[in-house]
Amino acid sequence: MARSHFTLDLGAIRHNVGVLLSALDGAELWAVVKADAYGHGAEDVAPAALASGATALCVATVPEALALRPLVPGARLIVLGPAAADEVRPAREARLELVTAAGDVPEGIPVHLKLDTGMGRWGLGELLTPGRDVVGLMTHFATADSDPSFAREQLERFLRATAGHTGLTRHAANSAAALTLPESRLDAARCGIALYGVDPLGDHGARWGLRPALRWESEVALARRLARGEGTGYGLRFVARDETWVGIVPVGYGDGLRRDLTGTEVLVAGARRRIVGTVSMDAVAVELPGPVDPGTPVTLLGDGITAEAHARVAGTIAYEVVCGLTSRPSRATRVVVDA
Ligand SMILES: *Cc1c(COP(=O)(O)O)cnc(C)c1O
Repeated sequence: MARSHFTLDLGAIRHNVGVLLSALDGAELWAVVKADAYGHGAEDVAPAALASGATALCVATVPEALALRPLVPGARLIVLGPAAADEVRPAREARLELVTAAGDVPEGIPVHLKLDTGMGRWGLGELLTPGRDVVGLMTHFATADSDPSFAREQLERFLRATAGHTGLTRHAANSAAALTLPESRLDAARCGIALYGVDPLGDHGARWGLRPALRWESEVALARRLARGEGTGYGLRFVARDETWVGIVPVGYGDGLRRDLTGTEVLVAGARRRIVGTVSMDAVAVELPGPVDPGTPVTLLGDGITAEAHARVAGTIAYEVVCGLTSRPSRATRVVVDA
């Protein structure tokens, strides 16, 4: 048996594209598929997003874009992160678009000028006079998910700086801004996390009508009875106060089930159960009310078990939970469905 199994639902990706398109109210949707589509599989997500209405793809690096180019030969592919000097030629040959956040604008390739309006990371402090290769003007919000008033301030700075260039495509919004700050939608929005059905604000994607696109399932390999005072896992961080049953599930942080997920809930045969003890690299224990058969299904993501909830337990954001999943064939199986 495979230790665990991932299912990517392209129907959910299409559905989420639809939700975002209606929120965007006429602005273009650019699908952000960096970091292997946030752990979902860019080769599968990118064509599905384009087929359902996204008009460009965004990645972080030139190699990410070059890997996707053969799969989406006609698509606009925008590299959001900085490109090294020796990457400009391959980028030009692959018909990519680059973002420049410094004074040296590459030539002979479509370029987006990035303005820093408050993110304090990459970005020009002042708009250069756009040369003829410039096709877009952009900025990135630091607080779209946490402080809308600062995001509005950033937007105002951006609009002021770019007011004379309305002929160029202006884009600022990420998922959180696209869903919550209508005035930030401008000509296009660069949406990642919402595309995957995950709430950019960390609550629950369903409140925006989004559907999680990834399921992750495993099974109980073995049910163990712990007598009072017996523990399970490294460090014996869980010790049974009374006789307790635990199910040993063959996934761990080597698969992306983070070590700080002790206490999070998963489904065992459809019922919510807690992860107890230390998550190890290849195995984890769940608390059970009694013995179950080996092979009893365990749902780690899906059917109401969300990346957002895991992230709250781990003290991180759902982005990091999904980006950390490792569906490599040596450890898990993976299928793509269209439900
Ligand atoms: C990653 C990224 C996005 C997408 O952000 P989400 O919150 O996932 O929608 C948008 N713009 C830039 C510049 C990014 O780096």
